[in-house]
Amino acid sequence: MQKSAIITGISGQDGAYLSEQLLKKGYRVIGLVRGDNAIGIKGLQYLKIEKRVEIVECDLLDISQIIKLLIQYHPDEIYNLAAQSSVSQSFQQPIGTFQFNTLSVYNLLEAIKLVNKKIRFYQASSSEMYGKVNNLPINENSLLHPLSPYAISKASAHWICKNYRESYGIFVCCGILFNHESYLRSTNFFVKKIIQESIKISKGLQDKMTVGNIDIKRDFGYAPKYVEAMIKMMQQDEADDFIICSGKSESLRNMIYYLLDKQGIDHKKCEISDKLFRPSDIDDIYGDNTKAKSKLNWDNSMTTYQLLDLLLEEELISSVQCYLKSHTT
Ligand code: NAP
Repeated sequence: MQKSAIITGISGQDGAYLSEQLLKKGYRVIGLVRGDNAIGIKGLQYLKIEKRVEIVECDLLDISQIIKLLIQYHPDEIYNLAAQSSVSQSFQQPIGTFQFNTLSVYNLLEAIKLVNKKIRFYQASSSEMYGKVNNLPINENSLLHPLSPYAISKASAHWICKNYRESYGIFVCCGILFNHESYLRSTNFFVKKIIQESIKISKGLQDKMTVGNIDIKRDFGYAPKYVEAMIKMMQQDEADDFIICSGKSESLRNMIYYLLDKQGIDHKKCEISDKLFRPSDIDDIYGDNTKAKSKLNWDNSMTTYQLLDLLLEEELISSVQCYLKSHTT
């Protein structure tokens, strides 16, 4: 029988790639959006799958809407990707971030408990939950010490999920994903920003790029590869939590200089602004993906620099296609 999956946050980066992979596996995919707008599905359009995903409006803060959806679509799996996902923005909107990122999870799990406890649930947890790190690499047993409102909201949601698994036996798994990037990443995230802005500088369309603290280190991977792990987690015999990461961190400064060097741009074109520093930040973080390797048979596919090469190429191809389109229509 055909399996069906509901994806919240379908309009985001991971929502698009996850839809593509579930469709390839023969799933019926129902994607939830908060508003009725075409911009929201541009990731699906980019992957040319917008006609194959059923888009439904749903306010995840209203449990009655979720209950109705579960009764109407009787999904086998729910992938909960919707969240205010920007660490920087969470410092501007701490309460809104906390409210949405926790209450939406409570509503979804409570609805599952009321309607059908057999529905499997995936929660998008985050490496940001570990924050102030004592021991590296981070594994599934490392202590949580969140350093931002976003991280606090994700840590709370993580514990809500564990509680529904332990108290009610619901199949709930948390994918603790480290930073993962792609062409579909929003422009307000670091890697997408430095790729787009370095291209603009190389073409003389922009003078310089302004960045915040680039002496921090992060563990980066490729979104389509990380999304594969979400599906694998949901097919296990028992629900569990998994760290998904590359296992290595890289400094943001080195990543910027790599992109500038590749395009023959002077390092002076990168300017640091104290205004872009966060009130608190993680210095260095990388994970240990041993559990995912052994239990999910999942492995990271590329180094940070291979990732930058791939993303730069895709961005360049896309900018040429946009140029050609605007000059032929
Ligand atoms: P993303 O591109 O920012 O997408 C977030 C999604 O959540 C969008 O569909 C967005 O809808 C939706 N959303 C945000 N606020 C909402 C609200 N108040 N009500 C309803 N929907 C709302 O994020 P992503 O990169 O795909 O990440 C997917 C999930 O993984 C997120 O939960 C994120 O926190 C988590 N995560 C991501 C990373 C990463 O490196 N990408 C790492 C660890 C964890 P709109 O289009 O309407 O704004």
